Amino acid sequence: METPKEKIVTRFAPSPTGFLHMGSARTALYNYLFARQNEGKFILRIEDTDKERSKKEFEDDILNALKWLGLNYDEIYRQSERTEIYKKHLKKMVSDGSAYEAEESAGGSGKVIRFKNPNIKISWNDLIRGKIEFDTTELKDFVIAKNMETPLYHLAVVVDDLEMGVTHVIRGEDHISNTPRQMLIGRALGAPEFFYAHIPLILAPDKSKLSKRHGAVSVNEYTRLGYEPGAVINFLALMGWNPGDEREIFTLDELVKEFRLEKVQKGGAVFNKEKFDWVNKEHIKLLGAVEAQNRIKKLLADQKISDETIDKLSPIIIDRISRFGEIPEMIESGELDYFFAKPEYETKNLLWQKKPDPILASKHLEKVSMILSDLKDFSQENVKKVIWEYAEKEGRGEVLWPMRYALSGRDKSPDPFTLAYVLGKKETLERLGNALSKLKSDV
Ligand code: GLU
Repeated sequence: METPKEKIVTRFAPSPTGFLHMGSARTALYNYLFARQNEGKFILRIEDTDKERSKKEFEDDILNALKWLGLNYDEIYRQSERTEIYKKHLKKMVSDGSAYEAEESAGGSGKVIRFKNPNIKISWNDLIRGKIEFDTTELKDFVIAKNMETPLYHLAVVVDDLEMGVTHVIRGEDHISNTPRQMLIGRALGAPEFFYAHIPLILAPDKSKLSKRHGAVSVNEYTRLGYEPGAVINFLALMGWNPGDEREIFTLDELVKEFRLEKVQKGGAVFNKEKFDWVNKEHIKLLGAVEAQNRIKKLLADQKISDETIDKLSPIIIDRISRFGEIPEMIESGELDYFFAKPEYETKNLLWQKKPDPILASKHLEKVSMILSDLKDFSQENVKKVIWEYAEKEGRGEVLWPMRYALSGRDKSPDPFTLAYVLGKKETLERLGNALSKLKSDV
């Protein structure tokens, strides 16, 4: 007879004392992936027993971030709503002698509940780090609750893991030192042994622990910066895990299939911003041209720009950005202004620096206007072909600088062929005309 496989249950157990950190989001992700690929259960447990530091605002942020990332949980609990359950277990521990009431300190400032430490060697086979051993003697009879109504962290975690049927505890390696205490409590409660998997820390490029001073660390900051949720998931997955081959781009569903807990690395995972941007750009490609164009349309909705121009501009913008959040930033900085309105010029800027001659610049702009007004098919390639031919003869800088500047009014912009094509024939000729009158009026 086939023995039924035990249902795998994982949990993500954040304390709502800050916005959801990228490192915690990765813990949530690994728990999610492991549960889903084993057709198990993924639990969210808000560890809000610290009344001073826990805030509703942070709990909301955690829920929003998980939703945005698509990490759906099957059940949610709040430790603050489970006092009776902890009390039941505390009472049992006191009555069977595995815990006892005692003075908090030698001075006798009040009672606490201490765990009766059996002082043994304890070890576990960490799914990521291998065998880990501890002598628990040094932990003494540690405090597990302030009183029957106020359990402390270690007790609440173990009671919950037991009551919720958790099988796998997947969490940051900063919890390794908590594990012996929790295992002792677990044994005293008669809990089955949990599997532990302690995942590596996330490090900044300088190998120090990733923190605020290295830039954005909370998920909500990346939402605001305009990253794709799928890219955040993909990037988090790669911080500490890889499939063992060249593949790097995965959707959440693909990760459910491919992720392997035992392949998670032991050493710290470095947060690489360039890699993150690259992953995001790949996820923009996954959206496909139509969806990407729709996104750009929405982002440009408040600008004076025709649908036709947006259609032509979209692929150019997509080529340049690695996250959609760059578009509002570009609008804000004025970088795209020349697509929305005719530029103003100063004569000197219309002249090529190496040969700043207004007569020559006027001559070239006139000729460029003539060539372009004769051009029927105003495609990017066609514009390039006819202008290039002329510029090769007359000197590239002499021709292309004034043309590009006349169209953009900026030192830096896309090339003049791209600009002419996006602006269209009529607008291009008008701008060339304006630049010409400016040159002439100043001579
Ligand atoms: N609440 C703990 C934390 O925020 C996690 C506890 C656990 O995963 O066992 O770090």
